[in-house]
Amino acid sequence: MTNSDFFEMAIKSAEKAYAPYSNFKVGAVLLTDDGQIFTGCNIENASYSMTICAERTAVFKAVSSGFKNFKAIAVAGGIDGDFSKPCIPCGACLQVLSEFCDNDFMIVLSDGVYRLSDFLPKMFSKENLK
Ligand SMILES: [Zn+2]
Repeated sequence: MTNSDFFEMAIKSAEKAYAPYSNFKVGAVLLTDDGQIFTGCNIENASYSMTICAERTAVFKAVSSGFKNFKAIAVAGGIDGDFSKPCIPCGACLQVLSEFCDNDFMIVLSDGVYRLSDFLPKMFSKENLK
């Protein structure tokens, strides 16, 4: 699977987004180390703070299915079907990803491939709790 195919899967996942308030639809596709795929979309709520992002939806689906080792995520987000601008994961999603992923974890966006450390060079982690 090419990065372009991976990103196209994220766009497909965005079609399932529930975003009646922002109309900003996001899709994510999470790839496990052993090749499993978990998709996610953003799910908004009338009580705005209860909204969840596509990336965390995918991570929580994977972890709740017994998978904790991840290789990459593709994220596509935009309004009115325009996914051309890079949709960088928010701080909350980066923090959740950092729980399970090392700094080399790949993040595939519309404009290229990044590493987790590109967006979150330092983070609060389980090391802080020791
Ligand atoms: Zn997020």
